[in-house]
Amino acid sequence: MDMAKKRVLSGMQTTGKLHLGNLLGALNNWVSMQDEYECYYFAADWHALSSSYEDTHELKGNLVDMGINWLSAGLDPEKSVLFIQSLIHEHAVLHLLFSMVTPLPWLERVPSYKEKMEQVANRDLHTYGFLGYPVLQAADIVIYKADYVPVGIDQLPHLELTREIVRRFHDIYGKKVFIEPEAKMSRVPKLPGTDGRKMSKSYNNAIYLSDSKEEMIKKIKDIVTDPARIRKTDPGDPDKCVAYAFHKVFSNTEENALTGKECRGALRGCVDCKKMLAENVLIMIEPLLEKRAYWGERKKDVLDILVEGTNRARAVARETLAEAEAAVKIDISSLIVGQNAQTR
Ligand code: SF4
Repeated sequence: MDMAKKRVLSGMQTTGKLHLGNLLGALNNWVSMQDEYECYYFAADWHALSSSYEDTHELKGNLVDMGINWLSAGLDPEKSVLFIQSLIHEHAVLHLLFSMVTPLPWLERVPSYKEKMEQVANRDLHTYGFLGYPVLQAADIVIYKADYVPVGIDQLPHLELTREIVRRFHDIYGKKVFIEPEAKMSRVPKLPGTDGRKMSKSYNNAIYLSDSKEEMIKKIKDIVTDPARIRKTDPGDPDKCVAYAFHKVFSNTEENALTGKECRGALRGCVDCKKMLAENVLIMIEPLLEKRAYWGERKKDVLDILVEGTNRARAVARETLAEAEAAVKIDISSLIVGQNAQTR
């Protein structure tokens, strides 16, 4: 690792299979940062529990599939530290220390907490785990002394909370242990789900990286189009068409200009339009699908890579936690070293 490089940290919840929205919104961005930054990327399996603690039967499968997708999309274990959150218990201990100093109202005012409590009806979110999610997230970030965290606008309040927790910890214990991480805002293409809402497993509108080509083509065929185009002879408005939003991501500028013109002039049918879209989607993700087939046959190698990354990450996490415990003066092991004390 190049010590002169700034450090980036990001995680992905193992709540479900990855879809095209995750690829474009996060994974490709992760890949693009690997040369410029020292990157730590983790599978956030504890975070997955915060909203899905009752249904854990897919967690391990999702974790392995996530590793396959990471490597297939171009994450390189020689360049980035790829690791599994739940194998590094230091995150949990720092989370506990942060829980002691984090005022409850700070957590209750986090916008995504309030929104989810109001909107999510099919899951019980009245748990400490869900409320304390941003505290664990703060521990995840600062235990690696990350300089930057890639975030979207909606996650900015979480990062601000991390910075506030760090400042409070430093104020209370009078010692500077952590770095206050900064947001790394990136322009990532926005891809809606096939029905126009946010692409999500819960809306049943996602195209998964693990879908077969036939499944992808079928889902693209079903993408919602401008409702005004009932017949081929009806002029359309591409800005009201979800397929066109996909074209903007997967087709080139000339193709998009032509699509817009032919849609407005009723010169092209939606069936043909989505056929062309499907071809462009497949051209773009074909290399990833080929690598998925390769890594899919080598799941043990994928796990070995994640374990190797976890060992590297743990060494860093241990050092930071030791500093934090010393600051809190709860580093009891310092009293008993040499007295046959296996403290961890
Ligand atoms: S022609 Fe293409 S852009 Fe226009 S409504 Fe149909 S699918 Fe959408």
